[in-house]
Amino acid sequence: MATGTGVPRLMVVGAHAGDGEVMAGSVVAQHLADDGTAAFLHLTPGERGHPFLSGAQYAIQKREEARAAGSVLGADVRILDYRDGELVASQEVKLLVAQMILDEQPDIVITHDAGSFHRDHAACHEIVSEAIFYAGLADLWPDRPPHIVKAVYYAENWEDKRSFSPDLYIDTSRGHDTWLEALHCYELFRGELATFPYVRYYEALAVVRGAESGTRYAKAFSVPPEARRTVVSGLAGEIPLKVTTGASIIARTQDA
Ligand SMILES: [Zn+2]
Repeated sequence: MATGTGVPRLMVVGAHAGDGEVMAGSVVAQHLADDGTAAFLHLTPGERGHPFLSGAQYAIQKREEARAAGSVLGADVRILDYRDGELVASQEVKLLVAQMILDEQPDIVITHDAGSFHRDHAACHEIVSEAIFYAGLADLWPDRPPHIVKAVYYAENWEDKRSFSPDLYIDTSRGHDTWLEALHCYELFRGELATFPYVRYYEALAVVRGAESGTRYAKAFSVPPEARRTVVSGLAGEIPLKVTTGASIIARTQDA
């Protein structure tokens, strides 16, 4: 993981190489520019579906593309050997990811939202959720200290929209251009393999979430239901859960 001090450590875990980058690459770029630390963990290369290459050949390419994208963003990259389309939320992989959480010591983990139609994405959500739990259990790690992850954010992904709720908006305006450069490291995102317009979709989404939050570009994230609770001792201080109205966004946009 790239080094930094005083700023939360960020870890992005995706099912396939490329998922983490489309979901949170602009957040990573901006976070690293702010002297934060960030690392990607891809659970599979995402090696199936190339029209000309075998899975083994495409896995080699995807690994190279993932490293190139990580280099553009300035983030470390780890890629596991599980098979695309066959990812299972087994105890083995949960404990392996927990060990990687102990290695990286992230304060914040970003991963897939639960409501996905892609089986690997749904498995990744479960794996990461339980790995975070296991990483914090001291009894499991007799030779190293446990690690408590402070926050987990679920990303907005076109395949994971069944239960996605935009709870948290992160202004990514400063990381936007570096993010687009990183996406172009992947043949898939350059539009040469699939009919799905990845870059146009995710750039449009950044515009939409930016407009909703009064910024140029933004990423929205869902949070666990228990993280949505806001507890206050009374209403004498800062007003909690203030409403964002169209008028307030227009006022902020005119200020910018
Ligand atoms: Zn994927």
